[in-house]
Amino acid sequence: MVQGVFRDIIGHEKQKALISAFLETERIPHAFLFSGQDGIGKKTFAISIARKILCQTNEDCGFCKSCMKVKRSTHPDLFVIDKAYMEWALDIQGKKGLKEGIDRTKEISSISIDFIRGNEEKKIKGINEEVIRPPHEGKKRIIIIDNVENMTNDAANAFLKTLEEPPDYNLFFLVTSRENEVPATIKSRCVRILFNPVPQELLKKYFINTWGIEEKRADLISWISQGSIGCGMFWLEDRNLEIRRLLGELVLGKKRSFVLITLVSEYISKGIRDCSIFISFLLSLFRDMYMIKEIGMNYDVINRDFVELIEDSVYDSEWIEQSIKKIQETARIIKYNINRWLMIENLLYNIMR
Ligand SMILES: [Zn+2]
Repeated sequence: MVQGVFRDIIGHEKQKALISAFLETERIPHAFLFSGQDGIGKKTFAISIARKILCQTNEDCGFCKSCMKVKRSTHPDLFVIDKAYMEWALDIQGKKGLKEGIDRTKEISSISIDFIRGNEEKKIKGINEEVIRPPHEGKKRIIIIDNVENMTNDAANAFLKTLEEPPDYNLFFLVTSRENEVPATIKSRCVRILFNPVPQELLKKYFINTWGIEEKRADLISWISQGSIGCGMFWLEDRNLEIRRLLGELVLGKKRSFVLITLVSEYISKGIRDCSIFISFLLSLFRDMYMIKEIGMNYDVINRDFVELIEDSVYDSEWIEQSIKKIQETARIIKYNINRWLMIENLLYNIMR
């Protein structure tokens, strides 16, 4: 196993250097905002820093008691608010019989004031009550809030005071992929660090070296992941890649089957994250069609395995434009819609050749 700080972070060299420099000074800012596209490793990066700070050797050794606790998500001085924590909180409520009538997807799509102030009845620990206590084991407490843009207005307001003047043993990492939705009052209290997509060549090497993927497949996955490790891990699953193929063939008219559309739609609409990755794929496919047919170049194509099929298909730019609009519209409203299956099915009927 490779040891040392940032051992599990692919790319982001500038950010590593910046944070390392901050950590070496005594005056580390108390709050950072990690901003950048979904799935490129921002939260993993924050956890990596937390491991270093909490590690008994201060090196993220990976073996000490502290490192093991972080690994098992049981370290009392690392407080992470993310989808997993919110799911856990919901399950606890379920056990206490409070879950009735709760829409799970909706519940975890926003960070409510309960997570800031705490809610004893729901067994939720609040950030505000946590940060006033000194750390339990080490010198620092690290608080990571993923998708910080999902805070409700109430929550953001209640959090602001804490973020403004926290006791100095607290260190905040706020993570976002939609920075424009983060309230300016919160942003202005953080040091902002921008994360770029991981370069394609680096992703390819990662899939080959870390996951033992053969070169041709690693090449394709590194292109279609568009700089996102999270997306890459998604496409590493055979089934997802198969469905992507079917989806592309349906859209391009190579396959025509109502049953297939229904089955594919059902698969895609299982989870909100899966859904958004497949929708991004559709957008990138139409972008590729445009590049190949309208501009006549294919060196910048994302979906390299579809080039031949695109070249063999007959379509016009009006259809591309209309379809892109329909896909974008679906992407915009799907997170508020409970019936994703029907929406995706509708979309496919609308954009198929
Ligand atoms: Zn350690």
